[in-house]
Amino acid sequence: MPMSPDADPTRRAWIECCDEWCYLLGNEGPQVHLQCPACRKTFWHDTGFRHGRAQSDRPSAS
Ligand SMILES: [Zn+2]
Repeated sequence: MPMSPDADPTRRAWIECCDEWCYLLGNEGPQVHLQCPACRKTFWHDTGFRHGRAQSDRPSAS
């Protein structure tokens, strides 16, 4: 699979594949579209983030 034209080396996600950080191709809600620079596979990753459902443990500011 060729590298996606949307793959921007300056935009990497924190998701690892083949010991490389993947390129961020885009996102849709909590899902991010990624491409591995090594094996070049593209995949969706669910970040688990949902609006309004974020854990908000307020740090105790003292
Ligand atoms: Zn890979």
